[in-house]
Amino acid sequence: MKLTVQVKLLPTREQADALNDTLRTSNAAANEISQIAWKHRSFGQYKVHGLAYHKVKCSSGLSSQMVIRAIAKVADAYKLDKKRKRTFKALGAIAYDDRILRWKDEEVSIWTVAGRQRIPFVCGERTAVMLKSRQGESDLVFRGGKWFLLATVNIEEPPPGTPEDWIGVDLGVVNIATDSDGETHTSEKTEKSRRRYERIRSKLQAAGTKSAKRHLKKLARRERRMKRDTNHAISKRLVSKATETNRGICLEDLQGIRSRTTVRRAQRSRHGKWAFGELRSFVEYKARLAGIAFALVDPRYTSQTCSGCGHCEKANRRTQSEFVCKSCGYVALADENAAVNIRRRALVNEPIVACVET
Ligand SMILES: [Zn+2]
Repeated sequence: MKLTVQVKLLPTREQADALNDTLRTSNAAANEISQIAWKHRSFGQYKVHGLAYHKVKCSSGLSSQMVIRAIAKVADAYKLDKKRKRTFKALGAIAYDDRILRWKDEEVSIWTVAGRQRIPFVCGERTAVMLKSRQGESDLVFRGGKWFLLATVNIEEPPPGTPEDWIGVDLGVVNIATDSDGETHTSEKTEKSRRRYERIRSKLQAAGTKSAKRHLKKLARRERRMKRDTNHAISKRLVSKATETNRGICLEDLQGIRSRTTVRRAQRSRHGKWAFGELRSFVEYKARLAGIAFALVDPRYTSQTCSGCGHCEKANRRTQSEFVCKSCGYVALADENAAVNIRRRALVNEPIVACVET
């Protein structure tokens, strides 16, 4: 399985300047190359090389390999869209291959416009282990005033064991995740910061000034990070629980999440914009790394079906949070009831059951 890992570079002030100049020079070169490609309506890497290499090598002062990387960047960008001229941000990320970037245990040797630099880096223990299977290119990224390298690693996964049972997980609007053991995965901390972000956001939106817009952008980034951290925490918890109890993990197929939430608008905002796709992919890759079976089940009617007797009716779901079976009277929290249904579907590998809409 291919994963992207991140290390933080610790450049000296001079080295940081050199990295900064390198990004600017490379992206300026990419813009020049893009201009040439656009003028000739010629977008393949080989053709662009013929048209632009010598000119840009002279004008930019970059090494051959750096120019080749810039050409590749332009050709890649045009692969996606040839209808408009591509331009690149001055400090946009650039890719390094093994000729211009060498990885050692605790430092890299990286090509810059001020010559090769040996720059130490820091990363987590797990990342350090994964870096041993690094392959291909790495991206140099400048973000929030700090320098990072993103590397691709290829991890061998243990074959998934055959689970004795499954943990069904319901992803929801009120609780981000509820499992079939009845455990809800929404931390108080997340809930607090979510409410705080919402308050600040509405104030800033009301202000509507230039500086308010800048703050909104910053806020969005911070909120994005908070969601990511929470998704990491939830997926980690689920996978360790599955490992300890020798169970697989099953989630609903993602497409169902939005369509099945028929909640009132006021409630919808709570986790309606949660990054469920990211959470699902975190659970999946962590499960695969741990050798835990992972499955997706059909999400239809999991919230309307009684996990006690199997009776399926829309009216079973009394409110967003409450489930009361019209047939047998079974009462449960709606999310937990859905999670139990999801677990059952994985257990019996149940075919899609039609449900009469009432
Ligand atoms: Zn029932």
